[in-house]
Amino acid sequence: MNIALIAHDKKKSQIISFAVAYQYVLQKHSLYATGTTGKMIAEETGLTIHRFQSGPLGGDQQIGAMIANNEMDMVIFFRDPLTAQPHEPDISALMRLCDVYQVPLATNMASSELFIHGLERGDVDWRNVVKANKDRET
Ligand code: PGA
Repeated sequence: MNIALIAHDKKKSQIISFAVAYQYVLQKHSLYATGTTGKMIAEETGLTIHRFQSGPLGGDQQIGAMIANNEMDMVIFFRDPLTAQPHEPDISALMRLCDVYQVPLATNMASSELFIHGLERGDVDWRNVVKANKDRET
């Protein structure tokens, strides 16, 4: 699966702890990240991560483009809800696209834990569920 990892500045230490703890799960997938988040996780874990621009410079939009092309399967986004972000419109657009394309989006540590355990068990099969629902509608 293609998985995006993003963390706002005050959440970067959390996402690094998360990536270290679940490196054994994440390493089985193709990882993408906004610039600084990807750099920090790669340095701490040695994981191979495709790095986009930093979030404020367009990284969220680049991940959004992958979602719009049906190329992203999950977004793990450690958001900081208490700090104003200069690129708030990009963040809203990214989250909106997750809903448009039915991409699982975790926005905090707790939901990310659930996602990673689902990944570990291999039961994150949402594309087939969406397809089955579409088939039923037609
Ligand atoms: P960063 O971007 O990983 O480059 O810091 C994250 C963001 O603020 O969206």
